[in-house]
Amino acid sequence: MKLLVVEDEVKTGEYLKQGLSEAGFVVDLAHNGLDGHHLAMTERYDLLVLDVMLPDVDGWRILQSLREAGREVPVLFLTARDSIDDRVKGLELGADDYLVKPFVFAELLARVRTLLRRRNSPATELNLSVADLELDLARHRASRNGKRIHLTAKEFALLELLVRRQGEVLPRSLIASQVWDMNFDSDTNVIDVAIRRLRGKIDDGFHPKLIQTVRGMGYMLDLPDDNE
Ligand code: CA
Repeated sequence: MKLLVVEDEVKTGEYLKQGLSEAGFVVDLAHNGLDGHHLAMTERYDLLVLDVMLPDVDGWRILQSLREAGREVPVLFLTARDSIDDRVKGLELGADDYLVKPFVFAELLARVRTLLRRRNSPATELNLSVADLELDLARHRASRNGKRIHLTAKEFALLELLVRRQGEVLPRSLIASQVWDMNFDSDTNVIDVAIRRLRGKIDDGFHPKLIQTVRGMGYMLDLPDDNE
C-alpha cells in the first residue's frame, strides 16, 4: 500500500514517514504543497495524509484538484485548527477524516487503516487466502492451517503483494518498488533474503509450498501444478 504524506513541518513529516513505513506502508513525503500537489496528481496512492496549512498550495487545494479530476483516493486531513468552519469546508470538498494536531501516532495509524478498510469494502476484501494460508488485513495477521505465523511489517507487506497477485510472476524490480519503495539494484539481494525468510515462515513444515521461484524472472505465489 502506497501513501503520500504532505507536511511542511519537517520533523512531523519525517516522524509520520518513519512510523507509517515501520507499519508496512510505502510512503512518499512532500515538504510543501507544490510538490505534494504534483505527486498527488501524477502518482497513484492508496491514501493521502494532508496537512491543511501549507505555505504555498494548501491542503484544501490539493484535495479540490483531486476530486475535480475524479480521483476518489481517501484523504485524511491534519489540522492544527479545530474550528467547525474547517471541518465543514473539508467535508464539502470531500475529505474522509480529520485529525487535530497534536495527535498520537497510534490514532493516526488506526484511522489510516480504517479508511483503507472502508475503501476496500466489501468485507471479503478484509481477508485473503490461498489454500490454507490466510491473511487478516485488518489485524495484519497471517496463519497457515489455522496456525498463527508471526511476520514483520515488511514480511506481511511482501506476502500481501504475492497473495493479491496470485499466479503472477512478480519481477524483483516490482517487488522492490511496491514493498521497499526503492529502485531495484541487481547488486543487492535484499529481496531474495526477504523471500527466503518468508518461505521459512509460511512454507517450511507446510504442504503445499506456495512461494515459487521463477528462474530469471522473479517470484510467484500459487498452488503448485498437480502434475509436478
Ligand atoms: Ca503546516
